[in-house]
Amino acid sequence: MSDIQKAAQIIQEGGLVAFPTETVYGLGADALNPYAVAQVFEVKNRPTFDPLIVHVADLRQAEILVQKFPSAALKLVEKFWPGPLTVVLPKSPMVPDIVTSSMPTVAIRVPNHPLALELIRESGRPIAAPSANLFGQVSPTTAEHVRKSFGKKIEMILDGGPCQVGVESTVLSFIDKEPVLLRPGGAPLEEIQALIGPVRVAQKAPGQILAPGQLESHYAPRTPLILAGPQEALPQGQRLGWLGLGKPADPGPFAAVESLSEHQDLREAAANLFAAVRRLDERNLDVIWALPVPDQGLGRAINDRLTKASHRK
Ligand code: AMP
Ligand code: MG
Repeated sequence: MSDIQKAAQIIQEGGLVAFPTETVYGLGADALNPYAVAQVFEVKNRPTFDPLIVHVADLRQAEILVQKFPSAALKLVEKFWPGPLTVVLPKSPMVPDIVTSSMPTVAIRVPNHPLALELIRESGRPIAAPSANLFGQVSPTTAEHVRKSFGKKIEMILDGGPCQVGVESTVLSFIDKEPVLLRPGGAPLEEIQALIGPVRVAQKAPGQILAPGQLESHYAPRTPLILAGPQEALPQGQRLGWLGLGKPADPGPFAAVESLSEHQDLREAAANLFAAVRRLDERNLDVIWALPVPDQGLGRAINDRLTKASHRK
């Protein structure tokens, strides 16, 4: 039996499989089996008010899970699927409440990774999967990251090498009259707007949850991370780590340096982000000093993750 066949059997029997996608590694369960999905929340320690994305192999499988596919959503998925775009649509009754946190809507995407697609096809099930890390912590972009978080707690980890995109999918809701960006991600907002026109960027009232990616604290390393403002002074007398594009102007004060991209390439920076944060987190630093990147293309998703990683309660 191949690894994919084994993994598919685990999914069919209600178990959990971690698998690679182009964004981050996912912790997958049969989306139509509420018991299996409950285990995802349990293993991740994820609150059940935080709904999951359902991964499907193609548009046809997506259509079964929703009541309707508005034409703007169709236009987008024709360009971006398979790829890092998640659409939120009115759900069909067959999607269990636990997947959607009892909302009448479901989030769906087709991942762009051969192992993910084979797993979905071989199991014959849509697969509900959040990132394969403990809730609130740094997302996994290698199989080793997943092993460190879960070890034997999950039945199988499919290893597909490092994730190519490296940040989570862009989440776009088609529930209101105009499309709403719930989370910036791997599909650049500029490219989305070029296809369907203006998109509203969701503004969230404090404490209100529109989407899991909108929790204020998320993607956080154990080491305090400061997202440096333009005039902010470097902390003194501390072991500092540097995180940013290119190189620090003066490397002197830093015990560790992680360049997201030597040539300021935002795609490369996104692909490196979570692994770089994890490496810094292992260096016994007092503070990770992170510099924001240009707020365009994938830079929007990178800044979003850094902002949430830096949130202090
Ligand atoms: P992750 O923790 O990466 O799996 O994040 C899941 C993402 O799914 C969040 O950012 C949400 O935007 C999104 N999501 C899932 N289901 C829904 C839903 N029914 N309505 C709105 N957003 C959803
Ligand atoms: Mg996550």
